[in-house]
Amino acid sequence: MSSLGFDFDLFVIGGGSGGVRAARMAAQRGVRVALAEARGLAGLGGTCVTLGCIPKKLYHYAAHYAEAFEEAPGYGWQVGAATLDWATLKQRRAAEIARLNGVYDRLLRASGVTVLDGRARLLDAHTVELATPTADGSTTHQRWRAQRILVATGGTPHVPHFHGREHVITSDQLFDIDPFPRRLVVVGGGYIACEFASIFNGLGAHVTQLYRGEQILRGFDDEVRHFLAAEMRKKGVDLRLQTGVVAVHREADGLHAVLEDGNRLVADAILYATGRVPNVQGLGLEAVGVAQGALGAIVVDEHFRTNVPSVYAIGDVTARLQLTPVALAEAMALVDHLYGPAPGAAPRQATYDLIPTAVFTSPSVGTVGWTEAQARERLGRVRVYRSEFRALRHTLSGSDERTLVKLVVDDASDRVVGLHYVGPEAGEVVQGFAVAMRCGATKAQFDATLGIHPTIAEEFVTLR
Ligand code: FAD
Ligand code: NDP
Repeated sequence: MSSLGFDFDLFVIGGGSGGVRAARMAAQRGVRVALAEARGLAGLGGTCVTLGCIPKKLYHYAAHYAEAFEEAPGYGWQVGAATLDWATLKQRRAAEIARLNGVYDRLLRASGVTVLDGRARLLDAHTVELATPTADGSTTHQRWRAQRILVATGGTPHVPHFHGREHVITSDQLFDIDPFPRRLVVVGGGYIACEFASIFNGLGAHVTQLYRGEQILRGFDDEVRHFLAAEMRKKGVDLRLQTGVVAVHREADGLHAVLEDGNRLVADAILYATGRVPNVQGLGLEAVGVAQGALGAIVVDEHFRTNVPSVYAIGDVTARLQLTPVALAEAMALVDHLYGPAPGAAPRQATYDLIPTAVFTSPSVGTVGWTEAQARERLGRVRVYRSEFRALRHTLSGSDERTLVKLVVDDASDRVVGLHYVGPEAGEVVQGFAVAMRCGATKAQFDATLGIHPTIAEEFVTLR
């Protein structure tokens, strides 16, 4: 134990995006850090690496090959019938994720972090109990005392209650589903529902997506939402709005989803992508008196401190913006606040405005800043510039995919306050513009920037 009587200065619960970054940065400042991960080595990297961003993006790439094979003859290529070997894709994805788990493990240990395997819970404001399964099926319990405890336990899929709920799956199970679901029903209209509807449509499944509201991707620019819905339908997703499932039955020919209007859909799998809730079960928060908000989200102040002064929380468990770069930014801001910034650097702060984001659908969506409706409500007078076109690539490919670019500009200051895009490689296109908007770029500065010709992204600097 240290002079303070603690085993560690900082005990991090959860080896995901936020926890790993906080543990590594703190250890690099000379702080004695432990990190506990409930899923052991296979969980290091958290949701993003094991069951989120990375495997999802790999499957997104896989799905795009179908379009490439279809479009290639337009460019003179003669390709034979292409078929997907789902087992190979799963196996290669799993191998890559295992490699990444190892990279995270090595990075943590090289920084001096003590990596612990087990599920942690708080016993008091400074004590953590770790339950670790052993090879013989029993569980060992260890207790550790720490000056500060950081909860970075992320989130978990939420499935509403209905008859037959036990027959449906979440994104956690979809990555390894066996056999490949030739008929897939997707419930939800958010990021995960839209991304997986696109991915499995591309991989060759017949996908029916059901969303309860008027249009998918609530919170995004209305024009983007309608444009994406139309494009997804063109590519084959059977998107049905203002509907939902009331019950699911397992029958001889598959799963029967009974819809609100009484109709039935028969499917091999039914994916519920109906949001994620904070991972707080069994953490002992109530016993220690850590304040929680809606759905159990841990309540923190601007420095990620809970109402229990030695306990902090970052990332999805605080249920703010559930994105990896947000968890990473919070981790770095917390470490700078607690232990000081890196030598010569200014302390970092997490900011929640102008967060760029992409939805990896087909075509993909990229956005940063306000929607047109938000800008009109907040600013009154705005100018909107938009263009919708068939990209050069598709003049020969034969694809009828269309692209949308849109700028929302504050009329008074000329600042670009919203940038929206539906088209290929949305994340790659929008990232750089997010820097310009963080610098306060005006429409006049966009206009003064030369395009890179011929590209899709140049449209953003030629909109008049
Ligand atoms: P997590 O990464 O969830 O890590 C929490 C860790 O804590 C987990 O490893 C868990 O096993 C562990 N844990 C939980 N309880 C305990 C306990 N009691 N003891 C010890 N360990 C515990 N974001 C993006 O920015 N881009 C994307 O493209 C993207 N795609 C996504 C796709 C999917 C399908 C999903 C589900 C999410 C996606 N996200 C994406 C969101 C992103 O994964 C999360 O925002 C991010 O992982 C949050 O990081 P975190 O550190 O808060 O939690
Ligand atoms: P979202 O919150 O994005 O979407 C949830 C969807 O489920 C919404 O369409 C919502 O409808 C609907 N819904 C909620 N409850 C019900 C219900 N009881 N019955 C029917 N529909 C319901 O959550 P996701 O699960 O898609 O993803 C979780 C988070 O993970 C995302 O918000 C995002 O932050 C992150 N993520 C990021 C990605 C990226 O950066 N590319 C990719 C994947 C996930 P309504 O809109 O009407 O409330």
